[in-house]
Amino acid sequence: MRRLAGFIANASGWLSRRLGRGGGTTLPGVVLLKLRPHALAEYAADLHHGSILVSATNGKTTTTRLLAAATRVAGYHVVTNTEGSNLERGIAAALLKGANGAEVGLFEVDEAALTSVAASTQPQVVVLMNLFRDQLDRYGELETLVDKWRDLLDDLAAQHEPPMLVLNADDPNIAALGRDRDNVVWFGVDDTSHAVAHLAHAADATMCRNCGAPLEHTVVLVGHLGHWHCPNCDATRPSPTISATQIALTPSGQHITVRYPTNAGPPITMTIDSPLPGLHNSYNIVAAFAASWAIAARTQRPQDVDAVARVIAETKPAFGRGEIISIDDKRIQLLLAKNPTGVNQNVRTLLNSPGELHVLVLLNDRTADGQDVSWIWDVDWEPLRPRLASLTLGGDRAWDLALRFQYGGFDMDKIKVAPDPSNALDIALNDTLPGQTLHALPTYTAMIDLRRVLTQRGYTAAYWSDE
Ligand SMILES: [Zn+2]
Repeated sequence: MRRLAGFIANASGWLSRRLGRGGGTTLPGVVLLKLRPHALAEYAADLHHGSILVSATNGKTTTTRLLAAATRVAGYHVVTNTEGSNLERGIAAALLKGANGAEVGLFEVDEAALTSVAASTQPQVVVLMNLFRDQLDRYGELETLVDKWRDLLDDLAAQHEPPMLVLNADDPNIAALGRDRDNVVWFGVDDTSHAVAHLAHAADATMCRNCGAPLEHTVVLVGHLGHWHCPNCDATRPSPTISATQIALTPSGQHITVRYPTNAGPPITMTIDSPLPGLHNSYNIVAAFAASWAIAARTQRPQDVDAVARVIAETKPAFGRGEIISIDDKRIQLLLAKNPTGVNQNVRTLLNSPGELHVLVLLNDRTADGQDVSWIWDVDWEPLRPRLASLTLGGDRAWDLALRFQYGGFDMDKIKVAPDPSNALDIALNDTLPGQTLHALPTYTAMIDLRRVLTQRGYTAAYWSDE
């Protein structure tokens, strides 16, 4: 019966692709779970070393890609969902396609889906990186998620073989989840040279999950990530086992030094050049190192650390996450704009580029983007103001953006508005001179639209997505 269900599910994906409807990546998972609701658990049980789950608001796609490279070079046969959906059906589809002979399942998991995916897959390693407020979060979703994750970790701790937890010491909410647990590998950023002066609006003051007092940050790095402590109780940033000790950001990536433990003797440090731009990617890189260490420890397999460092250094940005596409004699850099914290990081990345800036912002309000666009008022766009040579605004809610920039004191003579993404791209490229880079900040569905335009014009290969 399981083979039959798998066959039918696979056929549905094939048929969907033949009909040119897209959906080839996720539909088989949907069909499989309809036919066999426990298929995820059945397939996961076949994985000799079990599953690794990676979840976060920001960075889970990139970290899963880095970790997939690190796990493969370490000699494991890996099945992963880095090309598809991060919900249960996407993971089921990945297992259906690639579980044959795989020893390790490595899955990026949507924050809200983590509890059900973990219940099915019985993970060996769980990587939790950050929780930021997506958009405005008026209803306290973030607190609810932290509570759900804590319940999940309590359930997993009661398992016969509890998973190793790879947790971000710099996120107070994530750190609270690891408090009083003994199977935790902490990661973080020790280099404080990129600290910003204060918490941005996007980064909410965080309350101590132990006693409720407002936390104090001595160093703010990305949103509410940084070096923190509670003035009222003993809760404080755990000292990370694996950390970024030195980071030099460049327009197209970074030099990053990572401190890494060894089995015998003192920790070592390794410096790599990565094409992933921005401090948020420093967190992704160090999380991948930490998870890679945890997997080696859990499977008791010796590790070639140099090989792991090499493939992490070679991993290019994921779809739309700093990816650079050549357009004749110009370049376009795609920086997915999902939420205020992510966009603030994109703005900081842009400010690292030399010279005048050409920027294209595309705002949609479809389901995958979030229908409330008021989050654009929480982004610190203003540091771009003195550096902008041109700014083009597009997408379904382009005029909301125009209002936001007008209130931000931007020179409206430099701003052009064109809701249609194809028109917006033409206008923005026309303002960008040969040899220069156009920085595009689209929301999720706007990125799919933009990508479609670039594909039609022959600049990139087609990409199917049905999220
Ligand atoms: Zn406290």
